[in-house]
Amino acid sequence: MRDVIVVGCGGGGPVVAKELARWGLDVLVLESGPRYLRPEKDWSRLENDANNPLTGYLRTGPGDRTKAAYAREQPGDEFVWQVTAVGGTTLHYFGNCPRASAGVFAGYAGPDAAKYDTAHRFPFTLKEFRPYYRWVEATLPVQTAPLGTKEERFLNGAAAMGLPLGKTKEPNEPSFRPQENAILQPGGTAGKVRNPRFPAATGCTLCGHCYQGCVLPAGAPRNLRAKRSTDNSYVPMMLTADAWAAGGRAAELRADVHATRVHTTGWGDSLRASGVTFRDSTGATHREDAKVVVLAAGVVETPRLWLISGLPNPNGWVGRGLTDHYPDLVTGVFDDYTGSSKGAGSNARLDYPTRGGIENICLPPALQAFAFTYSDSGTSGVYPGKSRATKAGADSIGRLVGPQLVDTLSDVDRLLTALIITDDDVQQSNRVELSWVLPEDGAGRVPRVVMRHRERSARTFANREFLAAQAVTLMRRAGARYVHRADWPPLMLHLHSTMRMGADAATSVLDQWSESRTVQRLFIADNSALANSLGGPNPTLTTQALATRAAERIFTRYFGGDSWVNRDTPVTSVDDRVTAAVVARGL
Ligand SMILES: Cc1cc2nc3c(=O)[nH]c(=O)nc-3n(C[C@H](O)[C@H](O)[C@H](O)COP(=O)(O)OP(=O)(O)OC[C@H]3O[C@@H](n4cnc5c(N)ncnc54)[C@H](O)[C@@H]3O)c2cc1C
Ligand code: SF4
Repeated sequence: MRDVIVVGCGGGGPVVAKELARWGLDVLVLESGPRYLRPEKDWSRLENDANNPLTGYLRTGPGDRTKAAYAREQPGDEFVWQVTAVGGTTLHYFGNCPRASAGVFAGYAGPDAAKYDTAHRFPFTLKEFRPYYRWVEATLPVQTAPLGTKEERFLNGAAAMGLPLGKTKEPNEPSFRPQENAILQPGGTAGKVRNPRFPAATGCTLCGHCYQGCVLPAGAPRNLRAKRSTDNSYVPMMLTADAWAAGGRAAELRADVHATRVHTTGWGDSLRASGVTFRDSTGATHREDAKVVVLAAGVVETPRLWLISGLPNPNGWVGRGLTDHYPDLVTGVFDDYTGSSKGAGSNARLDYPTRGGIENICLPPALQAFAFTYSDSGTSGVYPGKSRATKAGADSIGRLVGPQLVDTLSDVDRLLTALIITDDDVQQSNRVELSWVLPEDGAGRVPRVVMRHRERSARTFANREFLAAQAVTLMRRAGARYVHRADWPPLMLHLHSTMRMGADAATSVLDQWSESRTVQRLFIADNSALANSLGGPNPTLTTQALATRAAERIFTRYFGGDSWVNRDTPVTSVDDRVTAAVVARGL
């Protein structure tokens, strides 16, 4: 019997695995997708080859790309953006690591307290949680992003709006700032020469390919690649825990295996998790038992696995309360060079506590075209659609087609983009459930993702409109000659809270330690555990801090260990001991 089985090796799973492997526990990690051991060879980094949701190497589906992508029923026009592979959706992510807004935690008593989603706060205080943020920030590590032409344009536009420069990790007023990113800062020749190579070059080379996966600087050991997707940070650490921690034991990773059932033993109040059945790429099934099971299969697959395993759902909140930051895009067209396709995915942001945030993002040409042709507001200049969204001061709204698209896109490096990330409310009607329409796949009934975007709460809608208007003003102040608002349907790149923790047992699935309220020894360590949408800040840092807290709870409650976050100093994922073990073991 294993000590711990972790299902899913994306943003959250490897965090629990690394923390518990460090204490010598026997940890098995199961991952549905492939492990890209040599991504510099495996990944073309061509946009369609990487991002195509049906066939791309960063898709939701098995590693064998001749096989179909995983089926999901989506009754609306949702686009659910997730990745099946070791590293999960952090292979796509931009590494932005802001902390959640103070107002989303219990005990917050600021003057704006009533303006948050007050019914769905985290069941502990920010003060209590801060050490976990610090722990993850040091481990990844998180660093202040470098600024180039597009960031300068963007932040100058924000300054011209009269906003102040935010200088703290937890902004408490509207402000702008460079991002705090899980990306190593450029060093040596990185960003200065055409083909920067390690060790002359270290950290981010500003190549602009974050969406397609980070493989740079060329020749760097895996744990020294610039972007700290978990395949470059926590996974190397969990696989080498014996090398950098006294008494540590390397976790075992099995890629290309899909968990199909969580097993329990006992009944009633003594029901507890006991193991997992999983299917390998040949279709054969295997079972492993464990003292503790951690689900980290993501916001869609974790509730699905729960439901197909027939686990309890007494209050009906399993899969419910899906939040997504109701994102939108505002784009400015400029007469001169903005460098929009250069540099890391997102290096500059604005924060509006109680409303959400606005980020500058680096969109390569095909994704920029996709971003222009995805809208809930019909087709610009042709028909309006039925969205409630307004132009918010922009020159146009809706899908761009024909000459308007060609004209706007003629030079991607004369654009500037603002991604709206809304502080959106938990609404029980937005959900993940099991499809009754599509045929089952090898794991059982497939998931159905429902996001009723035209029925978002008045607060969510007002926040998004407010942020869109701010983004339009920013573009104008930055010098744009033309501004376009997309009004996206649900483009779900941030998904959260389908297995939410909460203070109220009537509206939550997890207790404050990320453990199931109904099944002992069953924890959740992905974005689905989040209590709410964090006030708008990007979610992964908070998920990783929560996963660290869950690991501490597992160790103290079920293995007789002591807590460590308030006692120890974390080892960083770029530590020489990790690097030496990664190189020696060919990881
Ligand atoms: C384009 C883009 C940019 C983003 N940028 C940022 C950013 O800058 N900052 C930020 O905070 N967030 C960002 N995000 C979001 C970020 O990627 C997610 O918050 C994060 O990856 C979520 O972690 P997770 O563990 O919940 O899920 P995932 O990372 O999706 O991991 C879940 C893992 O479980 C595996 N799995 C699923 N089902 C099973 C099963 N049955 N058995 C075994 N394994 C299974 C999956 O294959 C996957 O590897 C971005 C997302 C996108 C798409
Ligand atoms: S821009 Fe930097 S972090 Fe992004 S893929 Fe290139 S080297 Fe990696």
